[in-house]
Amino acid sequence: MSLLIIGSVAFDAIETPFGQTGKIVGGSASYISLASSMFCDRVGLVAVVGEDFDFEFLETLRSRGVDTNGVQVKTGEKSFFWSGKYHLDMNSRDTLITELNVLGDFDPIIPQEWESPDFVMLGNLSPGVQITTLQRLKKRPKLVVMDTMNFWMQIALPELHEVLKMVDLLTINDEEARLLSGELSLLKAARKIQSMGPQYLIIKKGEHGALLFGPDNQIYFCPALPLEEVFDPTGAGDTFAGGFLGYLASQDTVDFSVMKKALVYGSSAASYCIEKFGTERLQEINKTDVESRLKLFHELVAI
Ligand code: AMP
Repeated sequence: MSLLIIGSVAFDAIETPFGQTGKIVGGSASYISLASSMFCDRVGLVAVVGEDFDFEFLETLRSRGVDTNGVQVKTGEKSFFWSGKYHLDMNSRDTLITELNVLGDFDPIIPQEWESPDFVMLGNLSPGVQITTLQRLKKRPKLVVMDTMNFWMQIALPELHEVLKMVDLLTINDEEARLLSGELSLLKAARKIQSMGPQYLIIKKGEHGALLFGPDNQIYFCPALPLEEVFDPTGAGDTFAGGFLGYLASQDTVDFSVMKKALVYGSSAASYCIEKFGTERLQEINKTDVESRLKLFHELVAI
């Protein structure tokens, strides 16, 4: 099965209680591509970078089987830049800088061979670009998954509501679920968000795992692996989504029970991401590493 990913490919600068980075490669689609390509052998990326980007990273993606023909390079322009600082508990952070740069007027051009993908992952990006991407596809994919964040709720809420009607599954963190729904209870928030469009919803709760909501009030919970050291949580949510969808795209059926398993794959992939700054750890691991931790998840929750 084929998986088309669209999202930010960017520079990040991160500060955690363990240290600080200069400009390093980040971006929602960078993490999603690295994680999903471990499971799915037909991954295509649509993104935009400036001429300042680290092009070796695109080579790394290609070496992992990601088709980067849909990555536009804008001469004379700068890549998207995001900077964040984590609080002591590493579960919450403040955004210090968001410079849209090339993302400001991003026109997502989908290569012809990617106009009919089986799966689509709309990574964190302006809802307007997410809508345009879906409108440019030749046929309705089997599953459309979308991620978003508070930034877009604050500046593009009407477009966000529009794209929610077009997707099958939304991934969002607990704080954002409360913000989007106006409900404090996550259960109520989930039902309200599902009524906005997506049949399925994943609420990410950082070190406290993730909840999957499906049709007919189905709910499933997957923990995050407790780790002695959490070095940098940036991209953990995107890695989770990439592992989840990469696994789904490698299966014949897509339903709630397969999604439950995919959730554990996503959680396992994310447990690696946070072990080093940025995308570094993900570049060192493969499918076998992710699978080797699945047993730990079983032991953690089996009664
Ligand atoms: P996560 O930690 O999974 O929420 O994702 C972190 C990544 O999201 C970073 O690598 C950022 O480059 C990217 N990011 C942050 N803000 C935005 C935004 N407004 N639009 C697109 N990507 C963003």
